[in-house]
Amino acid sequence: MSNALRATLLSLFGSLALGCASPGPPPGPTAATATPSTPADLVITAGVVRTMDPAKPRAEAVAVRGERIVFVGSAADARALVGPGTRVVELPGRAVVPGLVDGHAHLYGLGTALETPSVRGAKSAEEAAAVVAEAAKARPRGEWITGRGWDQNRWPGAAFPTHAPLDAAAPEHPVALRRVDGHALWANAAAMRAAGVGKGTQDPPGGRILRDATGAPTGVFVDSAMDLVEARIPADPPAVRERRILRAAEAALAVGLTGVHEMGIDDETVAVYRALAAAGRLPIRVHAYLAGEGALDGLKGRAPDVDPAGTAMFVLRGVKLFADGALGSRGAALLEPYADEPSTRGLLLMDREALARAARLVADAGFQLAVHAIGDRANRAALDAFEALGPGRAAALRFRVEHAQIVSPDDLPRFAALGAIASMQPAHATSDMPWAPARLGPHRLKGAYAWRSLLASGARVVFGSDFPVEEPSPLLGLHAAVTRQDLSGEPPGGWTPEERLDLDEALLAFTAAPAYAAWAEGQRGRIAPGYVADLTVLGRDLSPDRSLVDTPVDMVVVGGRVARGPAPR
Ligand SMILES: [Zn+2]
Repeated sequence: MSNALRATLLSLFGSLALGCASPGPPPGPTAATATPSTPADLVITAGVVRTMDPAKPRAEAVAVRGERIVFVGSAADARALVGPGTRVVELPGRAVVPGLVDGHAHLYGLGTALETPSVRGAKSAEEAAAVVAEAAKARPRGEWITGRGWDQNRWPGAAFPTHAPLDAAAPEHPVALRRVDGHALWANAAAMRAAGVGKGTQDPPGGRILRDATGAPTGVFVDSAMDLVEARIPADPPAVRERRILRAAEAALAVGLTGVHEMGIDDETVAVYRALAAAGRLPIRVHAYLAGEGALDGLKGRAPDVDPAGTAMFVLRGVKLFADGALGSRGAALLEPYADEPSTRGLLLMDREALARAARLVADAGFQLAVHAIGDRANRAALDAFEALGPGRAAALRFRVEHAQIVSPDDLPRFAALGAIASMQPAHATSDMPWAPARLGPHRLKGAYAWRSLLASGARVVFGSDFPVEEPSPLLGLHAAVTRQDLSGEPPGGWTPEERLDLDEALLAFTAAPAYAAWAEGQRGRIAPGYVADLTVLGRDLSPDRSLVDTPVDMVVVGGRVARGPAPR
């Protein structure tokens, strides 16, 4: 085990017993009752097993009985656990890592995105409109067309679009397309008509309607103004939700994920998840958060799910709130004005008092709070709200800041001091780097996407993708984390390379760290006897370079069950 890994483990888990002399947390129930001679259900041998266990960082074989790991060691010793009913999977040259977990994702959102028109990658408003025209052909007149993924920063001129191209593409369908970051909505005239939005409509608090010189809405609605249109879109029935969740879960397995932290869903989607989990039909683990301020009223008298064994497939434990918007749409709340638009410093969607009140409500109900905070003003407001709870409270409830993207150097040490988890998305850095410097100016880049600085300060850093905002593959996240380069290798040496992580640190942020954030440390996030058998098998060993991007996923094991693979060779 490298010194860097040891240091990271210590900073992730503080005073927990993680030294090499310690065997780690107590083993799970199966390991405690089994004898070494009882055959295993599954034995996997591979080129390397990266255990992320400080007591034994590398091995050749893993044996699983029921839901748990019963042996980690040499291929020769594993043979003693092979009986007539044991499934033996030999994967020479391949690498086994603890099941990769996306610490901030939208699984239901991915399912929705997979079956709705994607305008992601469109190189102009007209190209996006052509996708909508295609979708309109397949639907009856008047049915809503919703979609996602546009990004005017990639278009000629980088200006926000107007409703006109969408009117031409689908004059008789209301159209509402979310921006790639989910913080702006592009609507056509039919959608604005259906929503009753016009010249006389005022900007709601925390939102902005883009307008032409006459004051008429141009078709783009930012942050809370999106509700004006979205509130008119009919809700999805349970069968549709179920189909989307299952489709997204398969997509998650395909990129090697054994679990996700589902960052903000409503009660209808929770009910569908619960039914799927109860029926044994949910193939990956979901640690879920209720979305939005609307969820706060319902918390009284409601208890969070607990899962001391770490084996539940669905756990509802938290609430996700938004302190601000996104940097791309200048909705992120900054302490100082935007460098490229000095008239604004963005929007605080909940003011400091509202955030503090919400934090207390969530804490009193025993739930875990996750606050979306992109700008340095929003991050400060979130940390202030955590601090106001009193010493140790936010740490005990494992409160988290989602994105923690631009943090004032003054606030950076407060994550560690408060025990606030920094939930970050490496791919956001490499996606944003072409334009983030223009928004922020040079002085604020220090403290932006600052994984290394946060880790070094002693903060716990959890990684995710925020899919479908970014691609779901954790390998892309690992690549961004260790290189700070885009897929074409730009810029040489990496963007603000002092914030790069090494491979072990990045892997911890996709394994042990999300386990901690889900109260499953000691149960998941490591390959060791007694731990739950969540495993990701990759086509070759990992190295901290471009090769991560096309490293294939060979096999995924969730709770001892082979959920996918092994891929034929
Ligand atoms: Zn998100």
